[in-house]
Amino acid sequence: MLYRVPLAALCLTAALCATAVGAASAGPLVRASHDPLGSHVRGATPAMNALIARGASRSASFRKLIEALNASDVVVYIEASKSMPAGLDGRLTFMTAAGGVRYLHVQVVSSLGFEELVSVAGHELQHALEVAAHPKVRDAASLATLYELIGIPGPVQNRYDTVAARIMGKRVRAELS
Ligand SMILES: [Zn+2]
Repeated sequence: MLYRVPLAALCLTAALCATAVGAASAGPLVRASHDPLGSHVRGATPAMNALIARGASRSASFRKLIEALNASDVVVYIEASKSMPAGLDGRLTFMTAAGGVRYLHVQVVSSLGFEELVSVAGHELQHALEVAAHPKVRDAASLATLYELIGIPGPVQNRYDTVAARIMGKRVRAELS
């Protein structure tokens, strides 16, 4: 009651990523066939769609993230943003749940180069898979509840991260090199 805010942001910073250790799972690799929704990972613009396609062609891990999300009830919109909070390269927020589909919004800093942008997007898509694995997450409040349980608290209240996402971002970045 004292502090819950409408949106729970998930953060990635270079400093946090630099300390990531351990191993992560890319998740299930099942592809949804003839999904009427089409791809579950969508750019907010044609340029972003082109970046996503290029990332998927060059990074097997990024491609598998998309395939896993295609097999889920989660749809992710990725947008390049010029107005991210200081210290954030990317964040994920809950948009809405409708028609049996949960919609998430990923923002990445627009000034990033291709490799960094796809790496940050991969980090955030790992978070999207974490949401996909928890069907009770259906709004911003339940997203915050999930990350209070599974997340690592960030430097700012209501920001969280996970080791799996940090590792995924680094893995995608390495595959693009
Ligand atoms: Zn994160």
